Amino acid sequence: MFSNRNGSVARGRPSDAGGGAANAIAGRGGQPAPPAPELVVADLCAGYGAMQVVDRVGFTVAAGEVVAVVGRNGAGKTTTLAAVAGLRRGRTCGQVRLGGTEVSSAPPEDIVARGLALVPEGHRIFPDLTVLENLRMGMFPWRRRGGAELRGRLSWVYELFPVLAEFAQREAGRLSGGQQQMVAIGQALMAQPRVLLLDEPTSGLAPAVIDDIYDVIAQLSTAGTAVVVVEQNLDRALAASSRAYVMDSGRIVLTGDSADLRDDHRVGAIIHGLAE
Ligand code: ATP
Repeated sequence: MFSNRNGSVARGRPSDAGGGAANAIAGRGGQPAPPAPELVVADLCAGYGAMQVVDRVGFTVAAGEVVAVVGRNGAGKTTTLAAVAGLRRGRTCGQVRLGGTEVSSAPPEDIVARGLALVPEGHRIFPDLTVLENLRMGMFPWRRRGGAELRGRLSWVYELFPVLAEFAQREAGRLSGGQQQMVAIGQALMAQPRVLLLDEPTSGLAPAVIDDIYDVIAQLSTAGTAVVVVEQNLDRALAASSRAYVMDSGRIVLTGDSADLRDDHRVGAIIHGLAE
C-alpha cells in the first residue's frame, strides 16, 4: 500500500476550519466529534458575467470521507467545483478553507500546491503527449523537485491504475475513454492532493471501467484523501459516499447521510424536476 501525506496531515490538522458549514458536522449529543474538515466551503456564489448560477452553497469534506454532490443538469455542480478550485473568476462571494487555511482568493496553482486537485468533467488530457508526459504535468508545481519524488508519485499512480504503466509511452489520445479518464485522475493524483474533486468521473464509461474508478476512489479514501464526487448516476453516488448534497437551481436543497438519502423520495423528485 502506498503512503502519502494525507494521513499525517489529517491527524495533525488544527480544528479551526470555522464557518457555518463546519459547525454543521461538529460533534453533538455526546457522540465523538468527526475529524475536522479538510475542505470547508461556505456561502459560495459564482456565475458567468451577470448571471449567478451558484447561490450561497456550503459543504464540507473530511479526511478519508467521500462526499457526493448530485443534482440535475444545470444545477450548478460543475460551476461549484470550478469555483472551489479557483478556476472561476465569476465567484462573487463565499469562503473556501483548505486544511484550515483560507484560499478563497488564491490562484488555482496555489490551491493545487496547498493540496486540492480538480479532475474536470470529460477527461481533459493532452492527447498528443504520452501518458507519462501527461502524468508529469500534474507535478508542475513541484517541477524543481528531484527525480526520486517523481518516481515515488508515479509508482503510486501506477499502483492504482496499472494500465497507465503499461501504456506510459503511448500518446494519451490513442487510449480508450476509460483509460483517458484514468490519465486525468492520475494527473491530479501526481499532486498528492489531500482533497480530490471529481466532476462526473464515470460519465459515458463502460460499467467495468466505472467499477475500476470507484475502486480507486475507495482506496484513496481509505488512505485518508478527502473526496468530493459530482455524479449523474444517483445510485452510484449514494453507494460510494457517506454523505451527499443535493443541488438544485444553484443551491443545496437537501443534505444527509447517503444511506438515508437512498430511501428518501425527495432526492429523485428533485433530480427529475418534480419537487414542489
Ligand atoms: P451538468 O450536469 O449539465 O454539467 P451542472 O449541475 O454541472 O450541470 P453547471 O455546468 O455548473 O451545472 O451549469 C450551471 C448553469 O450555468 C447552467 O444554467 C449552465 O447553462 C450555465 N453555464 C455553465 N457554463 C457556462 C458558461 N461557460 N457560460 C455561461 N453559462 C454557463
